[in-house]
Amino acid sequence: MAANGDFSLLERPAHELAALLDSGEVSSAELTRLALERIEALEPSLKAFLTITPEQAREAAEAVDSARARSESPSPLAGVPIAIKDNMCVDGVACTCASKILESYRAVYDATVVERVKAAGMPIVGKTNMDEFAMGSSTENSAFYPTHNPWDTGKVPGGSSGGSAAAVAARQVPLALGSDTGGSIRQPASFCGVTGLKPTYGRVSRYGLVAYGSSLDQIGPLTTDCRDAALLTRVIAGADPRDTTCADVEVPDLAAALTGDIKGLRIGIIQELMTEGIDAEVRGAIGKAAEALEDLGASVGEATIPHIDYSLPVYYLIAPAEASSNLARFDGMRYGHRTDQKASGHIDMYSRTRSEGFGDEVKRRIMTGTYALSAGYYDAYYLKAQKVRTLLRRDFEAALEKFDILISPTAPMTAFGIGELVDDPIAMYMADICTFTVNLAGIPGLSVPCGFSEAGMPIGMQLVGRAFDEATILRAGEAYQEATDHHRRVPEITAKEGLS
Ligand code: GLN
Repeated sequence: MAANGDFSLLERPAHELAALLDSGEVSSAELTRLALERIEALEPSLKAFLTITPEQAREAAEAVDSARARSESPSPLAGVPIAIKDNMCVDGVACTCASKILESYRAVYDATVVERVKAAGMPIVGKTNMDEFAMGSSTENSAFYPTHNPWDTGKVPGGSSGGSAAAVAARQVPLALGSDTGGSIRQPASFCGVTGLKPTYGRVSRYGLVAYGSSLDQIGPLTTDCRDAALLTRVIAGADPRDTTCADVEVPDLAAALTGDIKGLRIGIIQELMTEGIDAEVRGAIGKAAEALEDLGASVGEATIPHIDYSLPVYYLIAPAEASSNLARFDGMRYGHRTDQKASGHIDMYSRTRSEGFGDEVKRRIMTGTYALSAGYYDAYYLKAQKVRTLLRRDFEAALEKFDILISPTAPMTAFGIGELVDDPIAMYMADICTFTVNLAGIPGLSVPCGFSEAGMPIGMQLVGRAFDEATILRAGEAYQEATDHHRRVPEITAKEGLS
């Protein structure tokens, strides 16, 4: 079935590929080869990857093929290749977080999610590009190179999981893992026209994920549809004794929850995220999507998150404060880069190492975070931000009592031009205005493609659910995808490269 160069196979969602693998119509070795070829062909234009791991991928594919031949019952995604964001440890492979300070670091163990992906028989084809230490919204903060949006290579893919989103959008790989502290899975999913889920805080182990904002970070899937997101979340989720914040809450069969039936579901549109600050085209697409959900039998009303205006200042106090503490370990003693300059003592050595190793945005976060935590300012900034965070969480609790799920745009705009916002950090921070509030509340958020701008760039809709109820947002997202085809569109670049 998979003749040489039959890349159209990679345009299918992973659950369809899994069915082909099951029936023996294609092998994991073939799929993995196709993915590696497609990566090679598109990388010059996209730069979605920092490291490609062909040998490990081929070995894993052969192992899963022979296990299948021995009729060992495989997990649902066994044999489907996957890419991993470069802030998660894969044993023996570079883990740079797109930072010079970790350029030479090789992980010495597998993150829990990686261990689970491997145990599920999924070949890992490589590590994807990102904003340095996941700080950013465009992948331009990568110390190595920016990633390009497959829908228009002059535009950013979003960030910080921009490499994972671009790779899935261009069908270099059917699935990828990203991490989301303030929007880093959902916003690039929106910019690249793919599906992205940030699970509930505590749903997925963070062991082996290089920490950014520890009270906000979650790992989740980037896929072409909600069914794949459900399947991959099931693979990675669940209690882990190595991460005490990972909750011991049962993980339901999320794919089985996708019944297509959303009759009677109460959906609230977040009013504060449908105002002038959001592009009119984006608001229009969300309005249409809400109508489509209504046609499927849901009821749609107006929800309100009264404290939402505080989300940006609260997030930009809490996330940098936690980052400044987490990044203190990168000092030239234990990991990665150490300065070659002659230092006059260990403090001087730390300072030279960190000045050379960190990029501007990371330094900005460390400085603001250190300030917010310092004696005399802690109460005024960090503590106050935590209190407002509680108010935001309560807003969501109240709204989610009235409604089963909330919807909003995922991002206030479609993908912007490479270089367009690099000199304007506040404008860049605004790209996550619809998403970081969900991390502050600790609840799950999903982004699904819901249309295209006039310029042909994808638009995303965010679906927000109650804590540990990923099933309901995925069910609504899947029902919506069954009724629409935005998520099935594939960017031109694949055709241009003669790959489709
Ligand atoms: N853009 C936001 C930030 O820079 C969110 C990033 C993320 O979710 N990792 O902090």
